[in-house]
Amino acid sequence: MVVVADKSARDETIEKIAKQLGVRAERGRRFAELTSLRVGGAIDWLTSPNSEEQAAALVGAFERNDVAWRPLGSGSNVLADDGEHHYVIVSLKDLKAAPVFAGQKVSVSAGYSLPRLCIDAARQGLSGIEGLNGIPGTVGGALWMNAGAYGHEIGTVTETVRVARAGNVVEIPGTEVQWNYRHTSFKEGELLLGATSADAAMVLGWSLSNRSPGPNVRAPTVTSRTKTSADTPRPSPRVTESRTNVRLLPLVMYASERS
Ligand SMILES: Cc1cc2nc3c(=O)[nH]c(=O)nc-3n(C[C@H](O)[C@H](O)[C@H](O)COP(=O)(O)OP(=O)(O)OC[C@H]3O[C@@H](n4cnc5c(N)ncnc54)[C@H](O)[C@@H]3O)c2cc1C
Repeated sequence: MVVVADKSARDETIEKIAKQLGVRAERGRRFAELTSLRVGGAIDWLTSPNSEEQAAALVGAFERNDVAWRPLGSGSNVLADDGEHHYVIVSLKDLKAAPVFAGQKVSVSAGYSLPRLCIDAARQGLSGIEGLNGIPGTVGGALWMNAGAYGHEIGTVTETVRVARAGNVVEIPGTEVQWNYRHTSFKEGELLLGATSADAAMVLGWSLSNRSPGPNVRAPTVTSRTKTSADTPRPSPRVTESRTNVRLLPLVMYASERS
């Protein structure tokens, strides 16, 4: 339970930090408006940084001031309870600058829509993520849980991930992350800001168009990371399998009480 006096001091701190950094900070929002399941209670604060640097500085300031926070992408995999959530939600949805394509690589921020990125890559004649096209959510949410479908997983094509550390944007190699089945080694309290892909795994061809590649398709290049034991898919205890062999994904539970 948050004591009222503490709460108002904390609210002042949050307001001050957001103002200093120029981050949009709102009150009176509910999880029900922000998640696909359309359920969930009131959130103390919803903050929406609009650049990776701003997001890193924001959570760095929260950490220095002992302000509890949690990240939220597009809320497609979150089940929040109906109580009051006494913490700050850091929404990544405004971190959606257009992805930057360079050769066969793409750099993208965490709030960008994953399905849109798949379309952008296809338009560039690149392949390697088209299996992820039907997965709702942001790039950050996908990185967080190593989203995948149709034999493609985001971790396989990720060369580096940008994370927030001590108020700064830090780029870490994808090989430092354990990309398991719908689960990664990222820790709670780690904010993912963006990622850069490895070279496109192959040119766009059969997998999307089911036709011969057109004249503008680039020469095939196959790039894959060296597999380590950490990459070996292992069944998650939280994953249940139905009789039709469709895997049901574990929802992330957001409980209301937090100091
Ligand atoms: C109809 C439907 C179909 C789906 N199909 C698939 C599928 O085929 N394959 C699959 O893998 N998933 C699937 N999912 C699950 C979901 O789409 C993925 O988990 C998606 O990657 C979640 O992204 P999001 O932005 O909505 O994350 P959210 O739901 O907002 O968040 C999910 C978790 O990720 C954390 N998170 C989000 N962004 C960040 C960030 N930037 N930094 C740190 N943590 C972060 C949140 O704190 C939370 O713990 C499906 C969901 C639905 C509703």
